[in-house]
Amino acid sequence: MLIVQKYGGTSVGSVERIKEVAKRIAKSKKEGNDIVVVVSAMSGETNKLVELASKFSQTPKRREMDLLLSSGERVTSALLAIALTDMGFETVAMTGRQAGIVTNGMHTKARIEYIDKKPIEKELKKGNMVVVAGFQGITEVGEVSTLGRGGSDLSAVAIAGSLNADLCEIYTDVDGIYTTDPRIEPKAKKLKEISYDEMLELASLGAKVLQTRSVELAKKLNVKLVTRSSFNDNEGTYILREEDIMEKPLVSGIAIDKNQARVTLRGVSDKPGIAAEIFRKLAEDGVNVDMIIQNVGLEGETNLGFTVPKDELDTTKQSMEDINASQSLEFDQEVVKVSVVGVGMKSHSGVACTAFDTLADEGINIEMISTSEIKVSMVISEKYGELAVRALHDAYKLDN
Ligand code: ADP
Ligand code: ASP
Ligand code: MG
Repeated sequence: MLIVQKYGGTSVGSVERIKEVAKRIAKSKKEGNDIVVVVSAMSGETNKLVELASKFSQTPKRREMDLLLSSGERVTSALLAIALTDMGFETVAMTGRQAGIVTNGMHTKARIEYIDKKPIEKELKKGNMVVVAGFQGITEVGEVSTLGRGGSDLSAVAIAGSLNADLCEIYTDVDGIYTTDPRIEPKAKKLKEISYDEMLELASLGAKVLQTRSVELAKKLNVKLVTRSSFNDNEGTYILREEDIMEKPLVSGIAIDKNQARVTLRGVSDKPGIAAEIFRKLAEDGVNVDMIIQNVGLEGETNLGFTVPKDELDTTKQSMEDINASQSLEFDQEVVKVSVVGVGMKSHSGVACTAFDTLADEGINIEMISTSEIKVSMVISEKYGELAVRALHDAYKLDN
């Protein structure tokens, strides 16, 4: 089998951990597999680098941030390759560029355009293993780029897709995908399998166990994904097409996104084209707008509410200033988005009601609601976020 294995920050967080990971890779190699490894920076390293840059500027150029941040993954890839070679397994470390990962020029959140798979294939043909520095690539004009936080997952999936690998294993610090973040609800249960679409919702709604774009790409390229722990040999969670899933529970999981801010524009004129103008501007400026709520207008005016990631709030304010809409702008950063996700919702009514009842019973006010076929999201006050997760987990009986 050709297997792509990705190891996240905690999995390679120390000398001991890198040695443990090397043993795991060696075992799979000895079983006769061809292996490409993708690594993250050692845990905490990327944050340290961000912090370091902030000592010099509050608005560092994204180009230089990419050069800086990409170094973390290079360190781990080289160390792991050195360890494996020392154990007698010929291994070549590669940067994103050396591994042929070509991206667009959106520094700090670049998209992969294509992968030239020849460099990796050449090494595999010789019987060597390859350890690729995750989270990074190179633009057409030779600039170092990074793929957004958590982006090593995307590197792994993209490489697995381009090599047509049999399996992409994502090794992390939890045994798999749980019904909710086990750090918030210790009663959370590990799922045997989950569909791409549910995983996509969970990831984009705050479950950082897999980066959203990596799930999107896995679905598109039909990459078979499994999430497992690098700390034990427990079976992980498979992420599959919906038609290949045996059990389809009503609700598969609860997600919490603590990185959202709520924005309200008051007294927006209630006439055609206004919403288009506001959201076109935000899109042009790269703001990821999520929930949007517009009230029924009164006397030619209406209120418009939406959520944006907290770190895009400054850009949002600037964008609204640019189109003269900032006078009426209010925002609240002390909110979280809690979401209930499950493909079973498609065919059942009443799932949303249970969520609303549950929060009402806890005395939690819901500030915004949005739904899709397979999710219900609610914006609530930050201080009730984790309580809401546990209450919903209970209400849908996810612990049994
Ligand atoms: P890595 O460094 O390996 O990429 P991450 O920290 O990015 O790991 O993701 C793993 C973490 O995701 C877990 O430690 C867990 O706290 C969190 N997490 C959030 N939601 C879930 C979930 N539904 N199932 C499992 N883990 C989750
Ligand atoms: N090191 C990067 C981050 O912390 C990428 C990753 O870990 O996937 O975001
Ligand atoms: Mg991660």
